[in-house]
Amino acid sequence: MMLEENKPLARLTTFKVGGAARYFATVSSESELQEVLEVAREKKLPVFVLGGGSNIIVHDSGFPGLVIKNEIKGFETSAGEDEVSVSAGAGEVWDSVVERCVANNWAGIENLSAVPGTVGAAPIQNIGCYGQSFEEVADTVRAVNLATGAPREFSKAECQFEYRESFFKKEGAEKYCVTQVRMKLRTDAVPNITYRDLAAYFAGKKTPSLAEVRQVLIEIRSRKGMVILPGLPSFNSAGSFYKNPIVPQGMMKKVEEVAATRPEIMAKWTPWNWPQPDGRVKLSAAFLLEYTQFTKGYTRGTVGISPKHTLALINLGKATARDVTTLARDIQQNVLDLFGVLLEAEVRFVGFPEYPLLK
Ligand SMILES: Cc1cc2nc3c(=O)[nH]c(=O)nc-3n(C[C@H](O)[C@H](O)[C@H](O)COP(=O)(O)OP(=O)(O)OC[C@H]3O[C@@H](n4cnc5c(N)ncnc54)[C@H](O)[C@@H]3O)c2cc1C
Repeated sequence: MMLEENKPLARLTTFKVGGAARYFATVSSESELQEVLEVAREKKLPVFVLGGGSNIIVHDSGFPGLVIKNEIKGFETSAGEDEVSVSAGAGEVWDSVVERCVANNWAGIENLSAVPGTVGAAPIQNIGCYGQSFEEVADTVRAVNLATGAPREFSKAECQFEYRESFFKKEGAEKYCVTQVRMKLRTDAVPNITYRDLAAYFAGKKTPSLAEVRQVLIEIRSRKGMVILPGLPSFNSAGSFYKNPIVPQGMMKKVEEVAATRPEIMAKWTPWNWPQPDGRVKLSAAFLLEYTQFTKGYTRGTVGISPKHTLALINLGKATARDVTTLARDIQQNVLDLFGVLLEAEVRFVGFPEYPLLK
């Protein structure tokens, strides 16, 4: 096992900002992970588990402990009657797993095509897009306790999945390293193409295959600058920087009042809110940003907003983490002043002594 020192992290992330890890190790098995954790315990080091670095911002002074890059591979399947159980190592590239499942006509994750990052990160924020989310296929998540090295299998219920949330971001935050994920995919299903962009594309056409849905999604995502795939243009970003806020009914009145002042924006964005089963309402964060100066193509020095997607903050090349968090906070403040709604970051902050945004 090799422990590197002062390893630059920026290039291991898609945002490409931030400093170095004091110590860095790559693990390709659970036992290697346990060995490395023992060293961290001996040296009393804080530990951060890194996947593909596509949902993080690293502090400019780096991470003062041990960063463990998860490279635990593996792909096993077992077939049931109309279901297939797929177990994948946490260090597998998520989209490669999707590609393999789609090629076998196993349904359930095709709409999550081209989400960057690793399998092990999928349960952390319960990845989702285009009408599908990880929780719909989750069966079990195997994870090693960072403090004790003990492995544990979490049932789907124990993962406490919600919109961009899970146990691993709440009580379990920074306490576990996911090593394997088991999903249940269907062998008999038709694709879910109800999401707006997909519905529009396939309107009037015959029911598409999973492979066609995947292909179209990669095209749609690419048009929005939301892919990091060889041969396709991409930005230095972490995808959507903010979650879509979920607000109580009472708050909707003010939001609607402000929104109504710019009918031309409302006309372009239908729908921009979605009532939730618990009575609250999910709002489109991108819609709220349309009412500020922070729209597609906005730039401020080294940082800006993607010209193809309002929610993607980007590093124009020479940004520091501080440049990014300053812009991110200003955006939050603007939306808060205008609508009374606090945008919460979807992105995770690594090595920051204090949470850098409003909360
Ligand atoms: C262009 C672009 C588009 C995106 N589109 C989407 C989208 O459509 N939907 C969506 O949900 N997300 C999207 N994302 C965000 C990102 O792809 C996902 O959050 C992804 O799951 C992050 O995976 P990662 O391996 O890169 O995790 P990292 O960025 O390395 O880590 C993210 C968090 O997960 C933790 N983590 C990672 N691996 C493990 C592990 N094995 N065990 C424990 N904790 C772990 C880290 O500690 C960190 O807290 C997008 C990002 C980009 C750059």
